[in-house]
Amino acid sequence: MNGKLDGTVALVTGASSGIGEATARALARQGAAVALVARRRDRLEEVAESIRSDGGTALEIEADITDGTAAQGAVERTVEALGRLDTLVNNAGLMLIGPFAQAPADEWDRMLAINVQGLLRITQAAQPHLVRAAEDTPRQVADIVNISSTAGRVANAGNAVYSLTKFGVVAFTEALRKELLPQRVRVSVVEPGTVDTELGTHVRAELQEAIARQTEGLEKLHPEDIADAIAYIVTRDRRVAVNEMLVRAGAQT
Ligand code: NDP
Repeated sequence: MNGKLDGTVALVTGASSGIGEATARALARQGAAVALVARRRDRLEEVAESIRSDGGTALEIEADITDGTAAQGAVERTVEALGRLDTLVNNAGLMLIGPFAQAPADEWDRMLAINVQGLLRITQAAQPHLVRAAEDTPRQVADIVNISSTAGRVANAGNAVYSLTKFGVVAFTEALRKELLPQRVRVSVVEPGTVDTELGTHVRAELQEAIARQTEGLEKLHPEDIADAIAYIVTRDRRVAVNEMLVRAGAQT
């Protein structure tokens, strides 16, 4: 490999499908050794195997990152096996949308657990390793990229709790960016528009049709479009910091 991330290590949460899978592949193509974190071992193995067969280095780590011990363990395993940690992509997430009044409280708990708590746990566990990597060669900079959403910029009916979590990710990113700036750990946020992934399949069955209608006729983004944005951010020279990227589908309002 001969890429801009040669000699570095990246950890991608939610790497078993969609945006996380595409991101792991994109970072591996740039030469990063990638740790793939999610719960579905079979899917992780498939992705890791295909990265290895393309000449990359990949380590699959089965973990539910809503569990603080598992999140910490995923970071430790990465550093033990791959030697360091330069790039963290906080991508794992869940979108359970629908009118607030009828939403089962369990849905809020699950979204808060992964979109907020899981992201916080992994980030805190990773932070000392990222600071160390930023002091070191080859790049003297490290990155955290948090995946929010257009729902983290614009709140709409039916999105109340999902938007709460994604607005929170934007706010957390901005505060942490300022905290870690002196240590040269860049903290960025990417806000995808509508991407063709499994995200919508977790919504309650009775809402599926209404949700499909919202995006009917829209040419959705591909997961690779968002992976490109993430790869762009983390391959910049240390003099550059891309703080935020909003990437909507071409015809999306
Ligand atoms: P997917 O459903 O394909 O991916 C979600 C990923 O999160 C899966 O790999 C899943 O893996 C992982 N995940 C979920 N819960 C956990 C957990 N407890 N522990 C570890 N991993 C977990 O959807 P997307 O790729 O679309 O979503 C990725 C991110 O992009 C999310 O944060 C989402 O909110 C955001 N986003 C997506 C948009 C879209 O239109 N698709 C638009 C805007 C933002 P597993 O089930 O194996 O654990």
